Amino acid sequence: MDEEGGRPEKEMFDAVCSKCGKPCQVPFRPTEGRPVYCRDCYRPRRPRF
Ligand SMILES: [Zn+2]
Repeated sequence: MDEEGGRPEKEMFDAVCSKCGKPCQVPFRPTEGRPVYCRDCYRPRRPRF
């Protein structure tokens, strides 16, 4: 179906992960000089059991 007139749930911006260097998308506008992390690198460190 067409998405005419429908707004996307979240606007995604193309960016490059500052950690692994892979292209990714972030829900915010990437700012120059600020590191951007992909989903994998962005998730907080969790202690292992
Ligand atoms: Zn990454």
